[in-house]
Amino acid sequence: MNTTYETVIGLEVHLQLRTETKVFCGCSTKFGSRPNSQTCPVCLGFPGSLPVLNEKAFLYSIKAALALNCAIQSLVKFDRKNYYYPDLPKNFQISQYDMPLSYNGSLEITSGGDRKRVRIKRIHLEEDAGKLTHPAKASYSLVDFNRAGMPLLEIVTEPDISSPQEAYDYLTALKAILQYLRISDCDMEKGSLRCDANASIRKSGEKKLGVKVEVKNMNSFRWVREALQYEADRQVSLLEAKENIIQETRLWDAGKMATISMRSKEEAQDYRYFPEPDLVPFMVEKTIIEEIRKALPELPEARTNRFVKDYSLSEYDAKILTSQIDLADYFEECAKQYENKKTIANWITCDIMAQMNIKNSGIIELGVLSKNLIGLLEMIDSQEISGKTAKDVLIEMIETKKNAYEIVESKGLLQISDRERIDQIIKNVLSKNGKSVNDYKNGKKNAMTFLVGQVMRQTQGKANPSIVNEILKKHLAE
Ligand code: ADP
Ligand code: ZN
Ligand code: MG
Repeated sequence: MNTTYETVIGLEVHLQLRTETKVFCGCSTKFGSRPNSQTCPVCLGFPGSLPVLNEKAFLYSIKAALALNCAIQSLVKFDRKNYYYPDLPKNFQISQYDMPLSYNGSLEITSGGDRKRVRIKRIHLEEDAGKLTHPAKASYSLVDFNRAGMPLLEIVTEPDISSPQEAYDYLTALKAILQYLRISDCDMEKGSLRCDANASIRKSGEKKLGVKVEVKNMNSFRWVREALQYEADRQVSLLEAKENIIQETRLWDAGKMATISMRSKEEAQDYRYFPEPDLVPFMVEKTIIEEIRKALPELPEARTNRFVKDYSLSEYDAKILTSQIDLADYFEECAKQYENKKTIANWITCDIMAQMNIKNSGIIELGVLSKNLIGLLEMIDSQEISGKTAKDVLIEMIETKKNAYEIVESKGLLQISDRERIDQIIKNVLSKNGKSVNDYKNGKKNAMTFLVGQVMRQTQGKANPSIVNEILKKHLAE
């Protein structure tokens, strides 16, 4: 069969907002505390307790909505989404149904070199549920309500995404924006950013959407991409075998690298939504929205363009540097202290980011102060160390938190640039390697490489390579 299919994807991102207290009560949102130590009658759903909206969570939501070009609803109203599950103490979740806080937004992304606009259908504010754990082999489950009532922003796209890679690129771009707004940790490992992915397929050119499947339980963007690829392949096989695709929710199993059926999809009516009677709807003043809009920070794309323009960086480097706000800040701190911006960009995007990868850490936790990186670059410029030694020194700097000078000094890594001394060493090497010298004179130019190597060996790699080359050539030409 050579029917071609296209994949249709829509993503729902849940973002925990970084507030001090929960969204409808005064409990702390601190991560990693003892289970059930951050609870109260409101978030445990005791009869008679009343919710009060957290102003900061609300303002953060507006901030995100504006950064994603959404229209803001003038009337803010909450609804109850009713369902029974052990992690939901009230047996309903306060959410927003027919009047989400904001709607009709968009995010422009670059994917595979192409520009693409992904429409944002809605962004609404709701509360998180508690967290269940199922100890291995136990006949019971444990529930932690510390997470119950945490502020969650749900960001839903239209089904505009057309490949697993595009979904990955959308998530990366979205996360960068959300980080720039400083409204969330955006940490998938801690669950402060979660993504449910909806996928369907249809024959190429077909207008009607296919039956969609929702996939949950991916804790990295890579798993989202893998799960979507698996799902697209699975659905194509079903259609090819003339079988039906069932609308359902599936779980990604990273061990099996497969999606597994969890439950058939529930419909909105199953939730018996109705307006939350304990929270009075209210109007948002336009002036508040305009104030937040004016105070929006420079976003990743604008910053990329500015980096290209102000620092003459390549678009590629600028993109990498601005993909994380802390990294972009770090680059700019370095740029204030050092002339050659391209050199800084190279060191950050290659050596420093390689270390961040190895250590799975952000630039701040890596602990290389900007002035220490610049100190290292200055030692290369003054030929006190070679570029190659500098790479080792950087690793040492990360391990010991010492500055470059201290390390070079204590390890005796100072480069030898003294011409007299290098000349002596070269004469010595030449006298011991007459054969190579003859080879060179007979046209075997790579004998030169061998001789340079011998000089480096004698100096434990510390001789300044350009001076070695220059003096060696002079002698060989004699
Ligand atoms: P539901 O009411 O089932 O939650 P929504 O209309 O709210 O469905 O959509 C949820 C997500 O699924 C959105 O991101 C939307 O873009 C996406 N979606 C809807 N229909 C499809 C489809 N046929 N294929 C892929 N994604 C879809
Ligand atoms: Zn509480
Ligand atoms: Mg939905």
